[in-house]
Amino acid sequence: MDMSRSPQHKKAVEIKGVSKAFGNFQALKPVTFDIYENEFFTLLGPSGCGKTTLLRMIAGFEQPSTGEISLRGANIQALPPHKRRVNTVFQSYALFPHMTLEQNIAFGLENLGWSRDRRSARVADMLRLVHMEKFAARKPQQLSGGQRQRIALARALAPEPEVLLLDEPLSALDLKLRQAMRDELRTLQRQTGITFVFVTHDQEEALDMSDRICVLGDGEIQQLGTPADIYEEPSNRFVADFIGETNFLEADVIALDGDSATVSIPLGVTLSAPHKQAVAGGKAVMSIRPEKISLPSQDGHIAAEGTIVGANYLGGYTHYVVDANGTLLRVSKRNSQSRDRTLEVGQSVKLSFAAESARILGA
Ligand code: ATP
Repeated sequence: MDMSRSPQHKKAVEIKGVSKAFGNFQALKPVTFDIYENEFFTLLGPSGCGKTTLLRMIAGFEQPSTGEISLRGANIQALPPHKRRVNTVFQSYALFPHMTLEQNIAFGLENLGWSRDRRSARVADMLRLVHMEKFAARKPQQLSGGQRQRIALARALAPEPEVLLLDEPLSALDLKLRQAMRDELRTLQRQTGITFVFVTHDQEEALDMSDRICVLGDGEIQQLGTPADIYEEPSNRFVADFIGETNFLEADVIALDGDSATVSIPLGVTLSAPHKQAVAGGKAVMSIRPEKISLPSQDGHIAAEGTIVGANYLGGYTHYVVDANGTLLRVSKRNSQSRDRTLEVGQSVKLSFAAESARILGA
């Protein structure tokens, strides 16, 4: 697990031993990590894992029970939310309904004591940035959901925050718009160079947008790394299960040799594959992603025979379920340019996978 980036990456936010309890309930166990400047950083996890609580502590709406939060090297513990150079964009937009879009964006700047000229220049810049310059005089209720979220972004970016916090900002939008807004958010982050800390429970959104992802589960960090690190090298079963699709097979660990574990699996084979936290002589699980399984089998791979029991044609891909001697395996097969003759349910097949694309995870 690579938690570090090269030294030229300056720290925007440092979280040191930060935890949060509500009464007797430990919402977040102590966590320690850094978020770098100019990074699109995502807190990802299932509902209730503590991601919003962490965001609220960075914003200053909530005090940590233990630990320290620093912004660009300065401890911000004692600063109230409006004194932190941090802004938040919420799912609900939270725009002022009686104000025009221009006034909405300018609102925070007036409180910061910016001159009228500086304010209007900044508002114009922000409207341009989110492609809403034609709408300056409208009010929020005259906008679509996506447009409102763009204005909420413009308003949050206007005072030049060091860090922008985004709490599930896309979840109120319909699917099509959500995908378009992903690209817009990513572009906005690159254009402004501001550190974005994005909260979501949507793993696809996280993989698509982030420089790095912190996977939270049960109030603690399960893994922190790039999207590819997390997908390809999950550090435990929770992460392999939560991020993307996978097949889990019970595995008996026969021997360990450095990073590699030799296991026997219910397909009646013994293989050696990279492991995390496996114990020799113990039980583990083997995780193999559906797209890493070849159908039909390839030479030099671990192979097994089975019967197709499910086939779902999805355009670019077909998802199969193969019963291999009682073990059900999901297989994702890319449909080729010339229309494939689809494999039929009931057909006997031979499938295979490369041992090195499997991961053995301690149980
Ligand atoms: P969601 O995606 O559902 O918002 P989350 O990961 O953001 O989930 P949090 O909102 O951070 O989760 O909440 C973490 C846990 O702390 C939850 O179990 C929640 O019920 C609890 N919690 C949050 N705020 C409070 C509070 N003010 N008082 C008591 N418990 C709280």
